[in-house]
Amino acid sequence: MSLRTSREILVTPGPTMIPDEVLGAMHRPTVDLYSEALHEVTLSCLADLRALFRGSGDTYIYAANGHGVWEGALSNTLSRGETVLVLESGQFAKGWGEMARMLGVLVETLPGDWRRAVNPEKLCEKLKADKAHKIKAVLVVQVDTASGVCNDIAAIREAIDTASHPALLMVDVIASLAAIPFEMDAWRVDVAVGAAQKALMMTPGLGFVATSAKAKEANRTAGLRTLYWDWQFRDGKEHYKKYCGTCPEHLLFGLRKSLDLIKAEGLDRVQHRHRLLAEATRRAVSVWAQSGALSLNATEPSERSDSVTVIRLEARYAERLMDYCRNVCGVVLGVNIGELSGEGFRIGHMGDITAATILGTLGVIETALGALSVPHGKGGVAAAIGYLARSTAKTSTAAVEKPRSAAKKVEAPVGA
Ligand SMILES: *Cc1c(COP(=O)(O)O)cnc(C)c1O
Repeated sequence: MSLRTSREILVTPGPTMIPDEVLGAMHRPTVDLYSEALHEVTLSCLADLRALFRGSGDTYIYAANGHGVWEGALSNTLSRGETVLVLESGQFAKGWGEMARMLGVLVETLPGDWRRAVNPEKLCEKLKADKAHKIKAVLVVQVDTASGVCNDIAAIREAIDTASHPALLMVDVIASLAAIPFEMDAWRVDVAVGAAQKALMMTPGLGFVATSAKAKEANRTAGLRTLYWDWQFRDGKEHYKKYCGTCPEHLLFGLRKSLDLIKAEGLDRVQHRHRLLAEATRRAVSVWAQSGALSLNATEPSERSDSVTVIRLEARYAERLMDYCRNVCGVVLGVNIGELSGEGFRIGHMGDITAATILGTLGVIETALGALSVPHGKGGVAAAIGYLARSTAKTSTAAVEKPRSAAKKVEAPVGA
C-alpha cells in the first residue's frame, strides 16, 4: 500500500527543497563570462549576502560546499603550528576542527554535551587560562545540525571579551543563515561561513564567507593562504578574480532568485515563520514523548534550534519509522548522525517550508507511530495545530503577495 507519488517532501536538514522559481531561474542559456550583466549579478548577491549576515565587511562567494568554506575560513587567517579552540556542542564544530588539524593547525577542544549548548562561562575560564594567547581562533557553530542545539553567539562573544582574549571568533552559520537571527557586526564575529543548500533554498555548490576588518588583518600574515581561497586575490577588481576562475553562473542565477524571494518575504517574516513552524514541531514531539519511546535531543528548551529538530528514538523503531514515512507517505526525514547515528531522526524545518509542509510531516510521523505501534503520547499533531492557531489568531489573512493561481479570474463555483 502506498500513499505517495513521485514528488517527495524532503525535510532533511540540507540539502532542502528548492522553490520552483529558483529551479526555473537556473534553466537558461550560458552567458558570456565577461558580460557586465553577470558581474552585476555577483555584486548584487554580495550586497544581499552582507545584509543577511548583518555585516559590513568583505564577503566572498565560493564554488564550494560547507566543508569547502570551512577550509576557506581557516586557510585565510591561520598559519601552520598555530592553535584553535573548538567549542563542542555536537558534530559540526568538531568536524571543522578536524579540518584545521589536517592543515597543520593545533586543535584544542572545549568539551561539550550533545544535548546542551556551549557553556560561555567555561569558555571564559578556558581563555583566561591561556595567558600567552596561544589560541588564535575560537570555532563554533550557531546551529549544530547533528544535535539540534543552538548556541548563543552573543554570549560567546561576551565570554571572549570578559577574558580580554584577542582570538578571532569564527562561526559556522551554515544551518542557520537566514533562518534565525545572526548579527555579524553587532556580535563582532570575525569570520562567518554559510552555504546555499540549507535555509537559502538553493542547490548545494555555493559557500559564503563573511569577514571583519580584524580577520582581514590576520589574512595579511596567514601562512596557510592558497590562491583558490585567498581573500587578497578575490579582492581584485576583475570579475574572474571573485571566483578565482569561471563564475558558477547558473548557481549564481539560482542564488539571485532565492535572495529575491527572501527579500520579497522580508527577513523578519522569514525568521518568524521558522520560529513558529519549529515550535509547532517541538510541541508535537513533546506530546509524543510524554508516554513514549521518543524524546527531543536538546534538553534545554531555550537551546533548541529553529532550523532543525533532532529526535531520539530507539534504533529498533527509528529505521522502520523513516522507511514508512518515505516509502508509504513520500516524506523524507533526516537520519541522525554521529553519536546519535541510528538512534532517531531529524526534521529539517528551514528554507522553503510552510505550515502545510510541517503539519503534513508531523501528520505522517504520527500516522507512522500508530501504524508501527511505536509507543507514543496521543495528540501531538493536535498540539501543533493548536499552537499555530493561537499564534496566528491575530494575523491579517490578506495575501502578502497575490498567489499566482489567484491572479487569473476564477469562475464562481456552481451554487455559490
Ligand atoms: C550541512 C552543514 C555543514 C556541512 O556542509 P556541506 O555542504 O555538507 O559541506 C557544516 N556545518 C553545518 C552546521 C551544517 O549544517
